[in-house]
Amino acid sequence: MRDISLWWIGADAADGRLLASVRSVIERTFGRTVHVWSGRDRPVDAFDPRRQQHSSTRILQWLVDRRPEDAQKLLAVTDVDLFIPILTFVFGEAQLDGAAAIVSTARLRTNHGTSNLRLLTARLAKECVHELGHTFGLIHCDQPGCVMTRSVNVLDVDAKTVLLCGDCWARYQDLEREGRGDHEQRADANSDRGR
Ligand SMILES: [Zn+2]
Ligand SMILES: [Zn+2]
Repeated sequence: MRDISLWWIGADAADGRLLASVRSVIERTFGRTVHVWSGRDRPVDAFDPRRQQHSSTRILQWLVDRRPEDAQKLLAVTDVDLFIPILTFVFGEAQLDGAAAIVSTARLRTNHGTSNLRLLTARLAKECVHELGHTFGLIHCDQPGCVMTRSVNVLDVDAKTVLLCGDCWARYQDLEREGRGDHEQRADANSDRGR
């Protein structure tokens, strides 16, 4: 139940090499197994015809019910342009300390991202680690280079690394320990009820 599912829900076909690279970066960063899940389902009501973009919040709501049983987190990647009402666009969105996250390649393709696959892969890996970090309970960080710094544009994405800074890494491990403690308590409570 500690695994992460990675799911391509884009309009175009998945790029297997891109997803494989992102998968291995996520595995290295969080020390967890990542399964690529290839469900053919796509969100139906996330498109806003007025904005010609997809609502990332709607997609998150849609994802929550679709998390595979063996996965703790579900990270979806798409190629459609995402928005939340107060912003022109978002690279992605996540449920803080929740189960689901969504990241889009659409804005990561600007500024040489389409012609340079390595650059696109690095950007996508950073945004995927960032949004997953939120699902693990990490908030934004001010440490230059930390993957949890906020990115307003693609230059911000390029300026940061794919790594959690020392503070964020320590916090991730603390949250993990707390989380595991909770699960043990819940398991105890269940066995108490059983007796
Ligand atoms: Zn963020
Ligand atoms: Zn940090």
